[in-house]
Amino acid sequence: MKLWITPTGDKWICDECQKDFEKEIAEEGWRIAFEENNDAMLRCVVCKHGDVEIFD
Ligand SMILES: [Zn+2]
Repeated sequence: MKLWITPTGDKWICDECQKDFEKEIAEEGWRIAFEENNDAMLRCVVCKHGDVEIFD
């Protein structure tokens, strides 16, 4: 999961959803503010899933 600085605010986006934003990332100049791979509390703003899947 990466925290992206975008024109509409900072967004956590997972690697899977990042692929859907490659155009915006390139055209709007999104930058990575932070990268976190082990925080189960973080949720992608697009798919609402976390990097760390928790199974009951
Ligand atoms: Zn996602």
